[in-house]
Amino acid sequence: MENTVQVGQRFPLTIKRLDINGRGIGYYKRKITFVTGALPQEVVVAEVTAVHDRYLEATTHRIKQASPDRVTPSEPLFGQIGGVELNHLAYPAQLNFKRDVVAQSLAKFKPSGWQHYDLRPTIGAAHPLHYRNKAQFPVRLIDGHVRAGLYAPNSHRLVPLTTFATQRPLTMQVITALCGMLEDLQVPIYDEAHHSGIVKTLVVRESVATGEVQVTFVTNSAKLPHHLQLLERIAKELPMVVSVSQNLNPGTTSLIWGAKTTLLAGQPYITERLLGRDFAVSPQAFLQLNPEQTEILYQEALKALALTPHATLVDAYAGIGTIGLSLANQAKTVRGMEIIPEAVTAANYNAKQNGITNAHYEVGTAESLFPQWLAQGFKPDALIVDPPRAGLEPAFIQALLKAAPKQFVYISCNPSTLARDLVALTKRYQVDYIQSVDMFPQTARCEAVVKFTRR
Ligand code: SAH
Repeated sequence: MENTVQVGQRFPLTIKRLDINGRGIGYYKRKITFVTGALPQEVVVAEVTAVHDRYLEATTHRIKQASPDRVTPSEPLFGQIGGVELNHLAYPAQLNFKRDVVAQSLAKFKPSGWQHYDLRPTIGAAHPLHYRNKAQFPVRLIDGHVRAGLYAPNSHRLVPLTTFATQRPLTMQVITALCGMLEDLQVPIYDEAHHSGIVKTLVVRESVATGEVQVTFVTNSAKLPHHLQLLERIAKELPMVVSVSQNLNPGTTSLIWGAKTTLLAGQPYITERLLGRDFAVSPQAFLQLNPEQTEILYQEALKALALTPHATLVDAYAGIGTIGLSLANQAKTVRGMEIIPEAVTAANYNAKQNGITNAHYEVGTAESLFPQWLAQGFKPDALIVDPPRAGLEPAFIQALLKAAPKQFVYISCNPSTLARDLVALTKRYQVDYIQSVDMFPQTARCEAVVKFTRR
């Protein structure tokens, strides 16, 4: 028993590398220890926060010997909230880390030929701070004041924020103004402990191209008291807000969004511009969070796909059609699918608005619609997939391997599920290269474009 480690215990530790979540890894008496806030080559005093059978979790109590890549975090609340896990690491080192995350994931799943993949250096952002175009913050009443912010790690304790290192300033300005209005009008704020009150979450999305802002109140009940006064004040004091909706999400679910969104004022969409095309964005639809890097990511995807003018292209996991519609003038036809109905409505509307007549989007899952299309005799020449973090469903991969389109590109936001999917995909396709693009500076998240050649 003398070897038992206790929570709160401190010991010096040499950090070997970073794990895929950006935590330092060291070995305490040969037990793997994950240390938040610690960097490779550092010697820190680690303080144990959790003891597990096979590993320890710890925080950095003190740095004894700092990494040359350590920088002063630009976010004053670094360490107290998530979302900026790499803010203490110099930006070039953050980019090296992201390429390494891809390498670590491949080494874990070992898809065919993985040692020889061309892992290109991660493309960095020109502006690694204040890039996020959307703030999605829980709202709480704290000491009689309405506050919005992020939760402290592993808790539901709200840390109020009026600025944030990764958020575009306008999103924070609007969030702060909305909190003031809710407070003045005494709109009931959600109380998690008693499951009472109404306003749960504020969602604010900014179009960088047009400066338009979209606001959504996520509420615990259909009733939103004083909403007319609230809308009046928004119209008067926040003229950039052109679209206000309410999303009903009753109950104690951990999901942020409920099923039903109702327009309260203004227009249902804001317009963002990407690669010279206009995209109407509805409240619940997915849109990449970093507009500047999105164009770079898409250009990498287009380059990797190397379309020919006669190609029939599939845009799978399409969102509001941003990728397929950017490519429609280089293909014969574009067919896409997406699970969120309002996003599909927006995608088809976006085709029309941009004068695109050879693209069409359908509501449904990739794993059910794609096999259905193939069964109907549809033969795609080119396919681009951009799935959520969970990666591709086995049924989708099976259909894809059978159809085996000549051109195929995978955009992944999760190297771990990408590496898993590559195990199956490499039966039919060879990996030409993996190009990571930093969509989320200051965080451990990593996005990558994979170019394949059919075997
Ligand atoms: N390509 C788009 C969206 C990528 S995000 C863009 O670049 O903006 C992934 C999208 O997949 C989301 O819009 C999500 O709603 C959708 N989605 C999630 N699961 C899906 C499934 N099983 N089938 C089809 N679409 C799905």
